[in-house]
Amino acid sequence: MATATLTEFRNEPYADFSQPDNRRGMEEALGQVRAQFGREYPLHIGGETISTGDKLTSVNPSNTSEIVGVHHRANADLARRAVESAYAFFPQWSRTPAEERIRMALEAARLLRVRKFEFDAWLVLEAGKTWPEAEADVSEAIDFCEYYARSMERLAGPQPVVQLPGEKDEMVYIALGVGVVIPPWNFPLAILVGMTVAALVTGNTVVLKPSSETPTIAAKFAEVLRDAGFPDRAFTLLAGSGAAVGDTLVEHPKTRFVSFTGSRDVGLRINELAAKTQKGQVWIKRVIAEMGGKDAIIVDADADVDKAVDAVLASAFGYQGQKCSACSRAIVDAKVYDAFLEKLAPKAKALKVGRSDDPGNYMGPVISEGARKTVVQYIETGKKEGRLMVGDQPVPDGGYFVAPTVIADVDSKARIFQEEIFGPVLAVTKAKDFAHALELANDSQYGLTGAVFSNNPEHLRRAKESFHVGNLYFNRKCTGAMVGAHPFGGFNMSGTDSKAGGPDYLLLFLQAKSVATKMGS
Ligand code: NAD
Repeated sequence: MATATLTEFRNEPYADFSQPDNRRGMEEALGQVRAQFGREYPLHIGGETISTGDKLTSVNPSNTSEIVGVHHRANADLARRAVESAYAFFPQWSRTPAEERIRMALEAARLLRVRKFEFDAWLVLEAGKTWPEAEADVSEAIDFCEYYARSMERLAGPQPVVQLPGEKDEMVYIALGVGVVIPPWNFPLAILVGMTVAALVTGNTVVLKPSSETPTIAAKFAEVLRDAGFPDRAFTLLAGSGAAVGDTLVEHPKTRFVSFTGSRDVGLRINELAAKTQKGQVWIKRVIAEMGGKDAIIVDADADVDKAVDAVLASAFGYQGQKCSACSRAIVDAKVYDAFLEKLAPKAKALKVGRSDDPGNYMGPVISEGARKTVVQYIETGKKEGRLMVGDQPVPDGGYFVAPTVIADVDSKARIFQEEIFGPVLAVTKAKDFAHALELANDSQYGLTGAVFSNNPEHLRRAKESFHVGNLYFNRKCTGAMVGAHPFGGFNMSGTDSKAGGPDYLLLFLQAKSVATKMGS
């Protein structure tokens, strides 16, 4: 086994923006990033720079007249070329000593740390994150690099196996091949970095197709990977449409695995496409698919209602409800239902909505006009399915803003109770008792995160046993999973439960080879 030489993993601390130095640093970074607005980003495939002329433009969702970046889009031919180039380089990269790959992952973490405010600023301006949300995203990206470097140290070299008499018995983990990495826009750095670095540090070559909403953040991270020493040919960033480029990458016979995070429908499609054996394909493709959520917080009869209200607010409206872990259902015991709503409504109404580069705002914009329209349609549906408690407040012009919305008395059959909205919309439902609350919480095709506010140990025990989610929290919010402490991934239609940031995650990117040698013959 490789000797552990790295220090114990620690989560990256968050910058405190109430400190004048940090505030100033962030303001400067916003200015520096704005100065790069409108820049063009060509493709780099197999060491060659390619400008296709088919351009994808990303805008600032807080101010849609600002163009953040212009990206040359790949087509299906270039997607094929990217997979073939990654396949050709795989033998060399997979044989690069693990220590070198680990060193590069740690160097990527160091470079992200050096450029932290700059990355924060890209996230504020391209993804519409508020300062603290951006800071949490970049910190998590650093955590993934540090954590997976340490995981790889444990997995490199021979693993402990039973030694049979007269034999030398060994087992080693080896890389899989070409990995197609497809992240979402909502953690445009953390998830992209986690999936990509996990694949690379284990010795796979990667074709990364970023979300079309946040391609500039991906391009900036590609710079970090190059500067950290990852060879150009180990890693290709391929901007392009999900439908055209995505399908080609997934279907290619030389693609060995697909690591996807995004919506249920796209995840299921990828799973289906990848399952079909292509001409010349000599393996079963592995699919890691982390998908949507319809996450619930249960508020029990004896819960501290004030604490529950604050946790529901943070979970439902942090990053405008655009987290897979966001609380979109509050399920509240009848005994505290009215008190909960009375406390929640004025606080939700008071949340300030506006440009995410202004640190005075609690909520920024949603990601796109398409997202805004979808969310508004769900709000209209919700008004018919329940009682609008909060919503329809005026929001600023110029960006994709949506007011925080709370709809009470929502039945479990309602669309806004069952479907992932991915915006600042909270459905509140009354439960007869705790057993009913658990039943309602589990009445979902998803099973990603959930939380319970209760002071009743027996109720918490029952929730631990039967609240069917991959990430369960007691007496705290249901967002904000920390690398190392809360390995992340959901059940049922929330995905393959890969547990990103957990001790087993890298095994998804490896295969084990057993070698037995007869001795003394
Ligand atoms: P999405 O499914 O629309 O897109 C995800 C990625 O897939 C993007 O890069 C997109 O370009 C790509 N894509 C689209 N069509 C494709 C195709 N046919 N083939 C290959 N790739 C294709 O999701 P999104 O809007 O980017 O992200 C939001 C969704 O992600 C929500 O459902 C959210 O719950 C989920 N999510 C889940 C987790 C998790 O860990 N479970 C984390 C974050 C986000």
